[in-house]
Amino acid sequence: MDRSRELQQLLLTPKNVVIITHFKPDADALGSSLGLAGFLKVKGHKVTTITPSDYPSFLSWMPGNEEVLALSGDSAEPAKKAKEAIAKADILFCLDFSTPKRVEELEESVRNTGAVKVLIDHHLEPEKFATFEQWTTKSASTAQLVFELIEEWNETHLINPDVANCLYAGLMTDTGNFRHNNTTEREFVAAARLTSLGANPSEVARQIYDTNSLERLRLTGYVLNEKLRVLPEFRTAYIVLSQDELKRFNSKTGDTEGLVNYGLSVNNVVLAVLMYERKSEIKLSFRSLGEFSVNDLARKHFAGGGHRNAAGGTFHGTLDEALSRFLELLPSYQQQLINT
Ligand code: 5GP
Ligand code: MN
Repeated sequence: MDRSRELQQLLLTPKNVVIITHFKPDADALGSSLGLAGFLKVKGHKVTTITPSDYPSFLSWMPGNEEVLALSGDSAEPAKKAKEAIAKADILFCLDFSTPKRVEELEESVRNTGAVKVLIDHHLEPEKFATFEQWTTKSASTAQLVFELIEEWNETHLINPDVANCLYAGLMTDTGNFRHNNTTEREFVAAARLTSLGANPSEVARQIYDTNSLERLRLTGYVLNEKLRVLPEFRTAYIVLSQDELKRFNSKTGDTEGLVNYGLSVNNVVLAVLMYERKSEIKLSFRSLGEFSVNDLARKHFAGGGHRNAAGGTFHGTLDEALSRFLELLPSYQQQLINT
């Protein structure tokens, strides 16, 4: 029997399921998780969805959001509950991440649980830690992999509009609204099928893109006006934001999402980076065009990874040091950047 059928068999009787996704989840991470959660609930399973951190308010419309066990703020209670749930689970679904490091303080719980682990993911170079793997970099989003698994099981009739909207959100955002080079016929087919199952494309787009706070828009204006730098000789754009600047615009989780894409939208730029201060580290977001792999760059120099053209990482040190580290690297990549 093939592996996905084995998993289907395992789900024939009610199970205690936990779904976990990565730290600071984006729309694909949360959408694939809540879409899968909704589907498994329809099938009669008990499902707990865990996020290792808070997430942007533009994702809180997702059906099931109110039940998410999110580790945020200073309370130790959610982490304790999450660890207990992971330890007691029959099946643990790990969605939209390729190494348990990405669940931060829950890493050991994920590694040590006796639950059957199921990885559903599309990031490069996954670590072997799961019993079942639905993994391919050919898929633009994890949400699509969830949908295709349900299709393979001939169970799409169990997808209700709430589930369809969550999955559609992941598909829409991880393709950059069907613009990135990961957009193929396969993505449009999945989008069309989800729409026929009740997803509402304009409403999902409105909830995600047209619910900005004025402060977030002002931050974008400030970044474009004063913080975006371009180095034509390296075909590179960068944006650096300090805690003070983020505070000035009352910045919330998710407010910096998408800023890096403005760098990449400058004519002739093929590499863009956004770096900003988090509580105890510097977070970096990379985007590239063509053959230039920001997955390699992030993995080698910033303890991160992702996809060839979209990746992230972290740096321990000051913002100035992070910028210097990045700028020092550029000459060694200059030929690659010019030839991309
Ligand atoms: P973003 O720049 O939007 O945060 O992330 C871009 C891509 O890189 C996403 O697929 C995300 O999951 C991945 N990514 C972001 N940060 C990290 C990180 O610190 N480590 C790894 N391995 N992947 C990351
Ligand atoms: Mn994804």
